[in-house]
Amino acid sequence: METTKRRFEGKVAIVTASTQGIGFSIAERLGLEGASLVISSRKQKNVDEAVEKVRSRGIDAIGVVCHVSNAEHRKNLIDATLKKYGHIDIVVSNAAANPSTDNILDTKESVLDKLWEINVKASILLLQAAAPHLREGSSVILISSIGGYNPQKTMAMYGVTKTALFGLTKALAVEMAPNTRVNCIAPGFVPTHFADFITRSESVRKAIEEKTLLNRLGTTRDMAGVAAFLASEDAAYITGETIVVAGGIPSRL
Ligand code: NAP
Repeated sequence: METTKRRFEGKVAIVTASTQGIGFSIAERLGLEGASLVISSRKQKNVDEAVEKVRSRGIDAIGVVCHVSNAEHRKNLIDATLKKYGHIDIVVSNAAANPSTDNILDTKESVLDKLWEINVKASILLLQAAAPHLREGSSVILISSIGGYNPQKTMAMYGVTKTALFGLTKALAVEMAPNTRVNCIAPGFVPTHFADFITRSESVRKAIEEKTLLNRLGTTRDMAGVAAFLASEDAAYITGETIVVAGGIPSRL
């Protein structure tokens, strides 16, 4: 279903890790509703292809290579945005890594550092750089995970970094009010490259579907619709919140 809303005319949106999956869908949805986009991820080829794809749909976009844990890349991302558009209205911090299936007590220090760096610290550093340029009424969205509520055994430390984003959302909502709202999305299970374990086995897929109340996996569009809501004036009185988008999989009371 195509959207007919145009809630982001004149707005500028940076979405990290936006060349495929959830990030791409969020960027595309914001763009279809009128936002100018700054597409980014680690690989130039992916950036070029994603920019081409959104432009072919009539969306205004630039692309910048940005590995979120690289300080120079983050600086380039903000500088290029300001050079082209002069301000920022929406930042979606979507990049994450999940490099290990080890138990937390067996996870190497270098892996712990990488998880913290990419999944938590990079969001903070990016927002430090973006904050002075965020206009009144701006919106920040952090992408966490349902695993942040109940870290799964095979992705335990990843889950803990996602738990940290719930706290970061609350803390930044206080710091950035009233100019900027800060909210979070906790996706359920969405078959993407990152989460290919979901569809690698039919039995795993079925088990996950059965955990939902809606009997299906999530789609990247499900996530994009909620991100667009949170970024829009429709959510003008919501800040410091996390929306779980998981088809009814239990998360919390
Ligand atoms: P995906 O489809 O595999 O896409 C990952 C994107 O991230 C790609 O565009 C990739 O492009 C980019 N990327 C990877 N590492 C990066 C880095 N260090 N810096 C910048 N860009 C990077 O993944 P996804 O499933 O949409 O995941 C997006 C977010 O949703 C993550 O925060 C994830 O934790 C969260 N999430 C996903 C699920 C799920 O079921 N899929 C569930 C809960 C939460 P390059 O290779 O060019 O860098």
